[in-house]
Amino acid sequence: MSTTANLVSARAALPVVGEGDEPIVHLKPKVDDASLSHRQLKSGAFWQAIPAYKDVDEATFLSHLWQEKNAITSPEKLVATVRELVSTEFVRDVEAGFGHAPMAVRISPYLLSLIDWSNPLKDPIRRQFLPLGSQLEPDHPMLTLDSLHEQGDAPVPGLTHRYPDKVLFLVLDTCPVYCRFCTRSYAVGLDTDLVEKVSLKATDERWERALRYIAERPEVEDVVVSGGDSYRLRADQIRAIGERLLAMPHIRRFRFATKGLAVQPMKVLTDTVWLDAVTEVVDKGRKLHKEVVIHTHFNHANEITEITKRAMDLLMERGIYVRNQSVFQRGVNDTDEAMVQLVRRLGWVNVHAYYAYIHDLVKGTEDLRTSVATGIRVEKRVRGSTAGFNTPMFVVDAPGGGGKRDMHSYEHYDTETGISVYTAPSVKKDQFFCYYDPLSSLSEKIRRDWLDEHKRTQMVNDAIANARVRSI
Ligand SMILES: *Cc1c(COP(=O)(O)O)cnc(C)c1O
Ligand code: SF4
Repeated sequence: MSTTANLVSARAALPVVGEGDEPIVHLKPKVDDASLSHRQLKSGAFWQAIPAYKDVDEATFLSHLWQEKNAITSPEKLVATVRELVSTEFVRDVEAGFGHAPMAVRISPYLLSLIDWSNPLKDPIRRQFLPLGSQLEPDHPMLTLDSLHEQGDAPVPGLTHRYPDKVLFLVLDTCPVYCRFCTRSYAVGLDTDLVEKVSLKATDERWERALRYIAERPEVEDVVVSGGDSYRLRADQIRAIGERLLAMPHIRRFRFATKGLAVQPMKVLTDTVWLDAVTEVVDKGRKLHKEVVIHTHFNHANEITEITKRAMDLLMERGIYVRNQSVFQRGVNDTDEAMVQLVRRLGWVNVHAYYAYIHDLVKGTEDLRTSVATGIRVEKRVRGSTAGFNTPMFVVDAPGGGGKRDMHSYEHYDTETGISVYTAPSVKKDQFFCYYDPLSSLSEKIRRDWLDEHKRTQMVNDAIANARVRSI
């Protein structure tokens, strides 16, 4: 009713249109080009600005094999690649940072070329992949390595069955890059000095057990094929998993999760065997009326280039749908401008923004975490800036295995202690799940309280008691 009324009054306000050459009346001022900067994608041979890649031509750079072969896998190799671009002080800072990282190092030449080496301290991609000793902050005292309790909810190693109708299948434990903020640092990547990982190798036997479990659970309709990263599955493995899942009558949809599109989009353009395997599974699924899609992980607009667009154009032509799950990170995308730009650029290249996660409690990443309050503030600006289906839902993946909760749905939130309390009635009835804002968002006094074991327990108990009263 009100929509019709609005239309009628809007029409009444416009001049009557004559024979077609009357000027259009613009109710909104025309936008300037700056407001469309999300469409200006980095193009040309941008990688040649890195001395080590100055003679690398486009065909070579676009080769996924070349990207793999030239991945940076140690702090020493990294330093050797960028030494001419950065100060000695910065090099020392990176070395100190890696000394504290629970993740193995792996960065693609593509990502390395997207870092602004004239200002690496502030660069959003550098922040995600290269920890700096000077920027690290002590972990929150409530942090544990598997904060999402994925192992606790795993009936078979690498298969997490938390939600009623969907499972998370960690098919392997390697990725095209290693993100220092990885939630799965308990399993993903090689062992580091600080952490001995849980083994999730891609073995036939483990897969067999996981697939048998899924087959024996008729309530499961949805499988997340993750890892590690589906980019590292061979074409025959993509087909094998795809066909097994498609053959199960109760499976209605599954996703291949990969960071690949964000860190090595050229694979879609040049690894034809891999893309053909994915396409085949998606096509088979479509004929069986089952949805097979890709879920990916862009965090900043700078990760989306002309190469990404070419990859996405090809996926679009093949009818492969892509959704994005971002992590909301301090100094990366925690401002209105950065998040709006990311969401609009994703939309421009046909990636559908699905989730923005409030940063999980992961070891060594306190400097990347934001408060829930920051998420709430930025979400207000993001919602309304583009299509609703391209607007991510901001979620907290409740520590302790509560699963993803709408960030706004807390039963209790005290920005002073930084504790937000969530319930998850469909996942774990009658439990309370706490998320803890980063210490840096709290006052001196509260930060001291967190270090005191007695006061810490008191704060958590108070928050839960408060939530209990509210949630009735
Ligand atoms: C995220 C996740 C899923 C998938 O959840 P959606 O909300 O459907 O994206 C499934 N299982 C586990 C354990 C997860 O963490
Ligand atoms: S690509 Fe994903 S699974 Fe791999 S390290 Fe990064 S966040 Fe973790």
